[in-house]
Amino acid sequence: MPELPEVEVIKNIIKPLLRGKIINYSIVRIKKLKYIISNNIIKINNQKILNIKRRGRYILLILINNTIIIHLGMTGKLFIMNNIKNSSQYHKHDHIDLIIDNNLILRYTDVRKFGFWLWETKNYKTNIFLKKLGPEPLTNEFNNLYLYNISRKKKIPIKILIMDNKIVTGIGNIYANESLFLSKILPIRISNNLNFQEITFLVKNIKFILNKSIKYGGSTIISYQLPNKNIGTYSKYFYVYRKENKLCKICHTKIIKINQRNRSTFFCKKCQK
Ligand SMILES: [Zn+2]
Repeated sequence: MPELPEVEVIKNIIKPLLRGKIINYSIVRIKKLKYIISNNIIKINNQKILNIKRRGRYILLILINNTIIIHLGMTGKLFIMNNIKNSSQYHKHDHIDLIIDNNLILRYTDVRKFGFWLWETKNYKTNIFLKKLGPEPLTNEFNNLYLYNISRKKKIPIKILIMDNKIVTGIGNIYANESLFLSKILPIRISNNLNFQEITFLVKNIKFILNKSIKYGGSTIISYQLPNKNIGTYSKYFYVYRKENKLCKICHTKIIKINQRNRSTFFCKKCQK
């Protein structure tokens, strides 16, 4: 599943290619992904893309009066294709093509169809999915004081807390596990038992790890693909994620895997307290 760094990488690549360009029309080969595709997307006609943004794990194509909100779900991928003649060549899972400036295609492919495309007519910030998202982890709004104050009020495991999109958006399972390892904090610790210093270190490591992953093009190479880019190499830097029974890179103790709220949690019981 693409997490925040992967979506940021995709946004950074498509943005210079699409900003200021015109969506001439779309070819929508399916009626419904996770949700029904709006007629406004199916019948789109000569709409300028003012900007491309990311919010959480959503990609936003900002048009003059409306916004197309794209979520990649589990297996959604975006491709840029250079020749619009390619729109006649497609595979079973190529669900949407946007024809751009009569020379490019933005193609959406999704095997499992858990992704979705929404048409928002109001300010995208008021969208039903976006309005409940907490601050972006890479902005100053997400800082040690903010997380410390929230962690006092919550009595839940720290990993569950940082994965709650209403508290901070876009920290998925990979980056929650990895940032807790770097911070030497056990994922099962109850949030209000962490001291200010630990919270400060955790916030710093969350930002560090997300930035590092963005730099290396993200980590879930099987979930998305971009042309001519050496991407998705961050996984070789994992310390604990999917490393159960392997030896900790720091202390050589076996990494442990447990279940927390139906998500796999990985940690080193010697390095993390
Ligand atoms: Zn260790």
